[in-house]
Parts: sequence; C-alpha cells; structure tokens
Amino acid sequence: MTQKKIKPPPTPHRPSQGSKDFRNRTKRSTQVTESQNTHGVAQIGEASAQPAIFLRVGREKSLLRRHPWIFSGAVERVDGAPVSGDTLVVRNAHGEFLAWAAYNASSQITARVWSWGEADVINAEFFRSRITNVLAARDGLNLARNSNGMRLIHAESDGLPGLIVDQYGDMLVMQIGSAGAERWRDTIADILQELCNPVCIYERSDSDSRALEGLELRNGVLRGTLPDNVEVIENGLRFLVDVAAGQKTGFYLDQRDNRALTETLARDKDVLNCFCYTGGFSLYALRGGAKSVLSIDASGDALRIAAENLTRNGLDAAASTRCCEASGAGEAAPHSLLRKEFTPTSKNAGRAEWLEADVFQALRTLRDQGRKFDLIILDPPKFAPTAAFAEKAARGYKDINLLAFKLLRPGGLLCTYSCSGGISEDLFQKIVAGAALDAGVDAQIVHHLHASADHPVLLSFPEGAYLKGLVLRVA
Ligand code: SAH
Repeated sequence: MTQKKIKPPPTPHRPSQGSKDFRNRTKRSTQVTESQNTHGVAQIGEASAQPAIFLRVGREKSLLRRHPWIFSGAVERVDGAPVSGDTLVVRNAHGEFLAWAAYNASSQITARVWSWGEADVINAEFFRSRITNVLAARDGLNLARNSNGMRLIHAESDGLPGLIVDQYGDMLVMQIGSAGAERWRDTIADILQELCNPVCIYERSDSDSRALEGLELRNGVLRGTLPDNVEVIENGLRFLVDVAAGQKTGFYLDQRDNRALTETLARDKDVLNCFCYTGGFSLYALRGGAKSVLSIDASGDALRIAAENLTRNGLDAAASTRCCEASGAGEAAPHSLLRKEFTPTSKNAGRAEWLEADVFQALRTLRDQGRKFDLIILDPPKFAPTAAFAEKAARGYKDINLLAFKLLRPGGLLCTYSCSGGISEDLFQKIVAGAALDAGVDAQIVHHLHASADHPVLLSFPEGAYLKGLVLRVA
C-alpha cells in the first residue's frame, strides 16, 4: 500500500464553518449557562435547543481525568431528542462544558468522547485531522521495516472510540464497535482511502460487542476489491489472513513482539502451543530451531491456514499434510490424532504437529499420557470481556495454567497470556501464582509482556491494556 506522506495537521485544529458546524451549538450552550437558575443548574427545557447530556452532581470526575466513557448511571438527563450516533455536548450538573461525545441510547456506555475541546467541531475535517495524526504516529514507530501488517487505529486509545483499522499489506480491515463511529463510517472510509490508498477496505463489524451497542452485524467490502489471497509478512514470516471469516480482523497483530520473543526461546525445545490459531507462535518457534512443536486449536479452519502458512514458509513440509488430516478429521474423536500419532517416537513426524481439539481436554490427555515439554504457550481467547466475567474467567485461566505447569520439564518456560479486558495484570499474575502453587512448582517471572506498540494504551483509559503476558521459568 502506498501510504501518502502524512503531514501533521495544523495545530490548533481550526473548525470549519460548514453546515454541520457544531460551533453554532456551542454558542447556544453559552446561553444555556447564562440562563442558569440561582443554584447554577441549567433547568430542564432551557437547553432543549441543543441536544446535550447533563451529568449528575459530582459524576464528571472520570471525564475530568479524561476517561472517554460516560456510563448511563452518571447521566442526569439527556436534552433534546438525539438518536444513537449523534454528537452531543456533555455538561456537568452546572451546565459547564466537559466534552463532545457520540451518544448511544442502547448502550450502558451512554456516550463516548470525541473531543475535549469546546471549540472543536465534529465533522469530516475533524476525522481527517485526527486520523492523519494517528497515522503519522504509527509511521513514527518504524514498524513497517519488519512487518507490513499493523494496527493503524486502536479505538479509544487513539482518540477514535469504537474504531479499529488494521493494515494487511495493500489492504485495510475496518471494525466498528460504537454508534458514533458507525455514524461516520463512510466519511472515515473515504478518509482512509484518500490517505492510505489501499486496494480494498474490508469491513469486519461483526464482533459480539456490536449487540451491546445495538448495532447490526456487518461483514463485507467497503471500498475496492478483496484480493484473492491476503498475506501479511511479519519479521520475514508469511501468514495468510482470512479477513472475511478469520477471527478479529483476521490476524492477531497484537502478539507480534511476543511471537518474536518466542523465537529466541525455542532452540532445541519441545514446544506446546495452545490456542495456536493460524500458527503464529508455532512458526516463530520452528524458525527459532525448536526440536518439535505441537499446536492445538479448536478451529479446523484456523489449522488449515496454519498448515498453508507452514508450507509457505518452508518450515516443515512433511507436517503440513498431517495438519490437513487433523483438520479434516472433524468427525473423528477430537483426540484420535493425539493418541495415535503424537508420540515422541513417531518416526515420520515432522517437527510440527497440529491437533484440532479443545485445549482444556487436550491438556488433560497430554498429562495422562505423561507428555512433557520445555516451552508451553497459552494464548487463549478472551475469557472475560468485562470485569463481570472475571470470576468464571479466573477459573479457566487457573485450570489451563495449572495443567501447563504440570506438563513442563524442570527449567521449562511457560509463556502465558490473557487478552481479557476484565482481568487486570495484577489479577492475572495472582491467578498464575495460584496455579503454580497448586501444581507444586516454584516459578519465576522472566518477562512481563504486553501488546505490540501499534496497540498503544491511552494513560487515561486503562481498559486499553487488555493484553498481558508472563514468561515464567519453573525451577
Ligand atoms: N496465538 C494466536 C492467537 C490465538 S486466538 C496467534 O498468535 O495468532 C485464540 C484461539 O483459541 C483461536 O484460534 C480459537 O479458535 C481458539 N480456541 C478458543 N477456544 C478454544 C478451546 N477451548 N480449545 C482450543 N482452541 C480454542
């Protein structure tokens, strides 16, 4: 993709005077403030000319700390008759300006902040300016030297709530998860087309969280034509990306640095990669000189792509055939391969072995078979999307980590991850510590890991730090 040279926009951002100019509304809001009653609180009805959110007394604290979400419980009233996606001014109980935010009548998150600047105007120019800034910041990370896949826009943490844009080579995948971003979808697509000139912009707005926002699921081409094969080259490794049906936007870009670390740890090791998806960690481990890599995932489609990826990279042609057998054996008992073929003495086995199975079950089977590994990767899906699921998720994390500890040889390494927004880094470490204790092993943390740099975390939005990982060495 020939990304046009990005010039930072002029600062301060100058609002346009177009017909959608919210500045007129800002003027009206001044009148609202002026017409406050003796308690300094704007009265219901006075502000109805301008759709606005008024917060309950004292509930502006998180906004003053620049957290971009306004929860329904903090809202005193919504003036006017806005519909989801509208930009509203947010005011404290005294009518003072706090932010411009996108309204959503159907969500627990009543509004998500677009801007903290009263003079800002939320229009196409605003989005062009903000997206230009974000792309320039990504450019500054110099990631393109090693990878043509990158998260270009990371939602709230990039000041664009609900908007994710991933680059895979010449094309972009866009994922919209908020009513506000939904409203500006076409404008945003036009801006991305203009600034990045991709061959295709594909929309993967089909994540479960859309339902919580009252948004319909959408999956299809937005601009251009979808190439037959989408490939990402990451640190010299080639991965096919199924943008239409793969998970997330097709690939887990957030694990790039952690995959690269795995390569440096894998030499001469027997590796177990649980929740392997399209073989990311497995291929790095193989290139890093692993003695063997057993990879497990519940998705036959993901494993088929993993097999193709193995072949593309010439890392272990023999094993790719076995993968197709594994994934094609969907009707067979999930562990038949594990029992029949995955024995250390199997003469024909390549270094890579693939297994279509439920990891919770497979780990038990491996334990019962007395299998041992030197390096185990656990990168499960999101068990706890929010803190409400934390307890159940904690049991899941403890279970797989405990089993993994038991499968490690002395001196072995466990690379364990959680991408659950509802599980804090601190809690995750405690869960893993509990698992080690119950497994009867002593372990030390040798690395604290996070998402790659193209997934920045806004300091005022700790929810953005969803991915955490630990590399542990057992004694
Ligand atoms: N490590 C991968 C990403 C893992 S995503 C990478 O770097 O690309 C999580 C994976 O877990 C998905 O591929 C999903 O199919 C798989 N999965 C979810 N639940 C599972 C289960 N119970 N057993 C096995 N795999 C599972």
